Amino acid sequence: MSSRTELSAHDDQPAPTVTVLGLGPMGRALAAAFLAAGVRTTIWNRTPGREGALVEQGAIAAGSAEEAVAASALTVVCVVDYNASDAILRREPVVAALKGRTVANLSADIPERARETAEWAARHGIGYLDGAIMTPTTTIGTPAGVFLYSGPEHLHRAHRPVLDTLDGSHTHLGEDIGRAAAYDIALLDIFWTSMAGYAHALAVAKAEGVSARELAPFAQGISAILPALIEQSAEEIDNGSYPGDGNPITSSASSMAHIIHASEAHGIDAGVLRAAEGLARRAIGLGHSTDGFLRITEVLGRR
Ligand code: NDP
Repeated sequence: MSSRTELSAHDDQPAPTVTVLGLGPMGRALAAAFLAAGVRTTIWNRTPGREGALVEQGAIAAGSAEEAVAASALTVVCVVDYNASDAILRREPVVAALKGRTVANLSADIPERARETAEWAARHGIGYLDGAIMTPTTTIGTPAGVFLYSGPEHLHRAHRPVLDTLDGSHTHLGEDIGRAAAYDIALLDIFWTSMAGYAHALAVAKAEGVSARELAPFAQGISAILPALIEQSAEEIDNGSYPGDGNPITSSASSMAHIIHASEAHGIDAGVLRAAEGLARRAIGLGHSTDGFLRITEVLGRR
């Protein structure tokens, strides 16, 4: 059951408001969740006509970005990247309209862009929170949504009542503005390399006459090994230790070589795994043959 906060206007309090800039799939999901929670939601998108059913659900469609940001103390931006959010925010009269208000940029990009945007915001008297959404559109407005933020604690606290109406978990990672983007990059690194591995596995399995449906329960079993491994290894890695008891890196390299040979025998590109195997062999060459596979964490950054 959802624990979502529902906000409503009282006689002695103004109605909670938010502006959502960007109406791609994620921006639309955010706006719909705010509306469902009773937040007065103003929306705007570069290309008109992307509102879908939001206006029928009660959204106020602004005629311009400056009109949209002027409607709320908090503007949530969710567009493809920071080139896009810059194109929307960093021009007059939008800058003037934002002065004294807060922007929460939930678009994805790199930590450096977050830092640079925070400096721009500070120069113009605009409150700035950076953020990242770690779950798909279908989770927005449900307990499964995961939102990360970084930047001034007081801004996060001030806008938390509105942000909480999106349901899910909202974690403030600290005042260093780049932290949300840093988590986003690291977590999406896990996601995309896993997806690349899964796509490769499907291709090899298919070449061997195994369907995705047949593989699915076992593929889920393999993925389920990772959470415990991540939890167990965290302290060791932070202490610079990569124990290989039970599964030394020599064994990992051998296992990867089998997959590479089987793939290439079917004419299937094994480039991703070749790179990983190469790193394991390098670690072995550097004298870490009794360590575990995660020793490559240190080898990766070496020239
Ligand atoms: P997109 O990443 O495709 O972003 C589409 C939005 O970006 C549209 O509003 C589009 O406007 C706008 N945009 C693109 N270029 C420009 C520009 N130059 N100037 C102004 N606006 C521009 O779709 P999503 O909504 O899915 O994603 C938004 C953000 O949310 C991304 O950073 C994404 O990584 C993140 N995210 C998305 C998830 C998902 O499941 N979809 C999950 C987690 C995070 P227009 O309509 O005018 O083209």
